[in-house]
Amino acid sequence: MKYDTIIHNGIIVTVNSNFDIIIDGVICIKNGKIETVSPGPADRVAYQSENIIDARGGIIMPGLVNTHTHLPMTLLRGIADDLPLFEWLNDYIFPLEAKYMNSGNVRIASLLGCAEMLLSGTTTCCDGYFHEDSVAQAALETGIRGVFGQGVIDFTAPGVPDPADNIKTAGRYAEKWLNVSPLIRPSVFCHSPYTCSEVTLIKAKRITRSNNILFQIHTAETKNEYDMIMSKHGVSPVRYLQKTGILDEMTILVHSVWTDEDDIRIISEHGSKISHNPQSNMKLASGIAPVPEFLKNRITVGLGTDGCASNNDPDLFKEMDVAAKIHKVNLLDPTVMDAGTVIQMA
Ligand SMILES: [Zn+2]
Repeated sequence: MKYDTIIHNGIIVTVNSNFDIIIDGVICIKNGKIETVSPGPADRVAYQSENIIDARGGIIMPGLVNTHTHLPMTLLRGIADDLPLFEWLNDYIFPLEAKYMNSGNVRIASLLGCAEMLLSGTTTCCDGYFHEDSVAQAALETGIRGVFGQGVIDFTAPGVPDPADNIKTAGRYAEKWLNVSPLIRPSVFCHSPYTCSEVTLIKAKRITRSNNILFQIHTAETKNEYDMIMSKHGVSPVRYLQKTGILDEMTILVHSVWTDEDDIRIISEHGSKISHNPQSNMKLASGIAPVPEFLKNRITVGLGTDGCASNNDPDLFKEMDVAAKIHKVNLLDPTVMDAGTVIQMA
């Protein structure tokens, strides 16, 4: 049989339901699809191709999925380290974004972000930023697959000088990108429950529901945010979003560090998903998300790196390393977050 591409001699980590690992495996690809995965060595009669890749010394595994990125932030890498979130955001990130994040810079910074992800094994990402049109355009140029969410915030933002236009801008963006490419899926990214009003959240969710696209939001990231929402609305950030009607299976809650038993039950019942970003949570000293509890409650958890200003890179292998260790030391239990679980999250 003649194939378009054959990859052999590598260790295949299948990530199938049995988590099979084939030490010396052969993968045959035809018409853009994997036809066979089998133990090697490759039989020269059975396996023919003009394009044979020798993966000796390497691992062959499914492309990684980075569930939370702000790709243009490669431009802000290392700009404000060793600060708490609110100071980091208000004194450094927001002013610098206002000054430098135009559509041209966003495109160039996103190209760099896509290149860094592809070089570290990530083939799909879920991004949220302003000028997201330029982010999606850059992604299209690199061939990476992803969900790209136009940012919504109730302040002046890059590309949205009047916050009264934030919903209209997100709606126009979503409609424009709905059917452009099978690799690109639009989305709406509301910054957080403390930077978007209830009305903004409801209107943004309406756009995502009517287009059947993902709704992304930073949620319960810091103790400060928890206290702010609690004093303003009398409930936790997760319960506030539930009351607002934001939670369903098409909502991704990013971080979810400050969540209690009730919050976790609510997230699980609504089928919302969580993006776990341990390095960003460590850098900004936000806390440790109760991921083992999320998993026990059958919540889908994916790994994310967050933007390069709070990590400082989009490398999911490094994120997997941290995710595998931080919960062990936090719970003083080396059996939580085994390697297979962490790979499945990535
Ligand atoms: Zn983020």
